[in-house]
Amino acid sequence: MENMDWGALGFDYRKTDANVRYYYTDGKWSEMEVTGDEYIKIHMSASCLHYGIELFEGLKAFRGVDGKVRLFRVEENAKRLQSSAERLCLPVPTIEMIVKACVEVVKRNEKYIPPYGTGASLYLRPVMFGTTAGLGVKPAKDALLIVYCSPVGAYFKDGIKPISVAIDREQDRAAPRGTGDVKVGGNYASSLLSGENGHKLGYSNIMYLDAAEHKYIEECGACNFFGIKEGKYITPKSSSVLPSITNKSLRQLARDMGLEVEDRLIPVEELPTFEECGGCGTAAVISPIGKIFDMQTNDIYEYGTEVGKVCMELYTRLQDIQYGRAEDKYNWCTIVE
Ligand SMILES: *Cc1c(COP(=O)(O)O)cnc(C)c1O
Repeated sequence: MENMDWGALGFDYRKTDANVRYYYTDGKWSEMEVTGDEYIKIHMSASCLHYGIELFEGLKAFRGVDGKVRLFRVEENAKRLQSSAERLCLPVPTIEMIVKACVEVVKRNEKYIPPYGTGASLYLRPVMFGTTAGLGVKPAKDALLIVYCSPVGAYFKDGIKPISVAIDREQDRAAPRGTGDVKVGGNYASSLLSGENGHKLGYSNIMYLDAAEHKYIEECGACNFFGIKEGKYITPKSSSVLPSITNKSLRQLARDMGLEVEDRLIPVEELPTFEECGGCGTAAVISPIGKIFDMQTNDIYEYGTEVGKVCMELYTRLQDIQYGRAEDKYNWCTIVE
């Protein structure tokens, strides 16, 4: 793509050449279909539109220092997609189907994979929803699984730097035993209002507390939270937190760095004791947190305007694997040829 300004890319949809689809009807999946069509035609009474029977995934392909294309931990995204489908009573596609679709989308859109060194990448978006027409609330009998992609820019245009987040106690993200631990659209629809309230005050993300007691830290926008102190990487244990694949990877890298990893409840009162903290997810890898403001109590927690040493090292180690600069000793990358 000679005329593409890779450095100017943000996180927006860009048309590519092909997307991949599987249709579930009459109790079975279709063969994989490849199409250039960006549109779908569904019935106005399709269950996804009325009852939120919808899930999605997000993962990236990177062009490495050696020119090879690496898809990061695609099987993990496939497994998480399966757990979301089970939770919504949707048909469950196989890991092989999902991985095959992701690989195919990358291959068919090779020219949209940003060059090495631009910080940009190819974002893959698997999305699946119930398409059965009807009125009653019941599981969908038909579904459509689409995997498409879009080139996206570097998350931090001028290098990684700390963000400010706000705690919101007026709206919760997910209830205990609700759907917080699966990647389904409803969770994001319900998070928009608190997100907007935070944005108005200049905060980029909302930090959610546990919905039952508002005592423990849960998530940081669409990122998992982690805190660093006394040689430990600490991340919330909760049944309403989405199991982030980035967090899972960072926990391994933290152990490699000699840090102890703790998955446990993190009370809000512990915030002042962290040396560093951050959010983590596919989009940014790590968003170091510089400041946390509690919108209801007015408490402020500050961690400085520079990226902490541990955050920086974790970030570098993960990106080194994604871009092929370091050995992929856990086999996280699928090379797409
Ligand atoms: C997608 C997502 C994450 C990050 O997951 P990754 O697999 O690391 O991209 C974290 N929290 C929420 C709520 C999410 O939707």
